[in-house]
Amino acid sequence: MTMKRRRFIQTISASAAMPAILSMSEPQKSSLPGSGDIVVASTWDFKLPVNETSANVLEQGGSLVDAVEQGIVVVENDPSVTSVGQGGFPDRDGHLTLDACIMDSEGNAGSVMFLEGIEHPISVARKVMEQTPHVMLAGEGALRFAVGEGFRERSLLTENARKAYKEWLTSSGYNPPVGKENHDTVGLLVRDGEGRLAGGCSTSGAAWKMRGRVGDSPIIGAGLFVDNEAGAATSSGLGEAVIKIAGSAIIVELMRQGVPPEEACAEAVDRIFRRQPRYRDDPDFFVGFLALRKDGAVGAIGSRKGFQYSLYSGGTNRVIDAPAFRR
Ligand code: ASP
Repeated sequence: MTMKRRRFIQTISASAAMPAILSMSEPQKSSLPGSGDIVVASTWDFKLPVNETSANVLEQGGSLVDAVEQGIVVVENDPSVTSVGQGGFPDRDGHLTLDACIMDSEGNAGSVMFLEGIEHPISVARKVMEQTPHVMLAGEGALRFAVGEGFRERSLLTENARKAYKEWLTSSGYNPPVGKENHDTVGLLVRDGEGRLAGGCSTSGAAWKMRGRVGDSPIIGAGLFVDNEAGAATSSGLGEAVIKIAGSAIIVELMRQGVPPEEACAEAVDRIFRRQPRYRDDPDFFVGFLALRKDGAVGAIGSRKGFQYSLYSGGTNRVIDAPAFRR
């Protein structure tokens, strides 16, 4: 066992100073990968080769950021996914608006939000990170930037989304429903063979949202946070709740202090419930957090049953039911 690893284990036991967190969730089940293993963890089971694509990029010698982008592109490409990229459900005015962000292992970040008509928001977020002095571009400015970078503008609203919108107009009125059915962001966290971390996420946000609404997914520190020294985290679910506690950032900070990934995710959910108990009492409320620690350990928690994540580790991919938060 190396010195570094020994120190890390000591830090974890020192974190017994946080018993409230540790008693909240099930014991860590994920075993640690080998030190040179590629780990890819992504939210949900999109029934698409998301993690495999990402891992394959690294295996073929691609960069971490390529791995993040290509994994997420797989979901953005699929018009049958109604919560990410083309095929996503529109806002209450019938427009599809997209949000995405990306972070690399050096602390660089790029984000686009309220972007319309561009198939791959994750790729535009990457361009923002790599080609501009900024972190975030929104709306028309983001679109203009994307077109200037060679992205093609086109309508991304599918027939299925149009139909669902029409049905929603007659049945639900202007009262956006909240819950798992309308929240399926892809958040993807990657650790390469040298232990470097990166991540990204992409979403069309909550279906039937107010025009102009932006959730947690493109907000660095809320929907995604990567710190190469400590770990990475991402979220899915009601973005407003995640933003209000800087969800992904606090999970990474907890991991830095030695809290295991699953407990760190549980603390984020607990913090939401402590600050705003109305979420705890709402049967439709949902958030899910996914965390990847620097050493490759992965953990996740859903605010209720049903959250899943996909984990590629040791050369195989599996879908895992995340424990539901309980106290
Ligand atoms: N977190 C996203 C948002 O609030 C929704 C989702 O997870 O699909 O925009």
